[in-house]
Amino acid sequence: MTRLVILGKQGAGKGTQCVLLAAHYHIPHISTGDMLRAAVAQGSELGLEAKAIMDAGNLVSDELILGIVRDRLSQPDAQKGFLLDGFPRTETQAEGLLELLSPNSIDLAIDIRVPDDVVTARMLERGRTDDTPEAIARRLELYRAETAPLLDFFEVKCHFADVNGLGSESEVQGRIVAEIDGLK
Ligand code: ADP
Repeated sequence: MTRLVILGKQGAGKGTQCVLLAAHYHIPHISTGDMLRAAVAQGSELGLEAKAIMDAGNLVSDELILGIVRDRLSQPDAQKGFLLDGFPRTETQAEGLLELLSPNSIDLAIDIRVPDDVVTARMLERGRTDDTPEAIARRLELYRAETAPLLDFFEVKCHFADVNGLGSESEVQGRIVAEIDGLK
């Protein structure tokens, strides 16, 4: 059983690392950003509601996000573990997650640490529709206000580790795998 939360700023490399880790541990990579972008691409009601919020760099409502995560975690493939990417992002989401998992919990929350100037440069290179300078600044501001406090939350509620997010993809993966395997 490997229930993991991958934390870190926008552009810290969570998505890239989760793809590698999902293959390594044979557990699903659950990204709320990817699920929202899929809804936007399908033109569903959820997607229409989320698109303007995402393009401005704001947060979609906790209620909506907790609803999609609840559905996703109830799927058969998530019963043996999962990697959560981009969720939780607020204290309400973090509390909602632990409630959903109860009586189980998260095995490990990992914070991938990268300085602001580096993540900003990475996002500008990526060029997604929400990677404008204004939306990037807004996302980092919300990260500081809403998401950074979750590091303390997870440190208290479960195992927590931080890893240096600078270096090659495989170097960063090696650091994360060492933390996960160190739990066993
Ligand atoms: P990034 O980490 O670069 O912001 P994501 O793919 O994680 O990229 O998220 C893109 C956008 O989707 C966010 O700016 C936000 O609008 C929305 N979003 C994703 N996950 C959440 C979440 N857990 N809570 C609220 N909004 C979310």
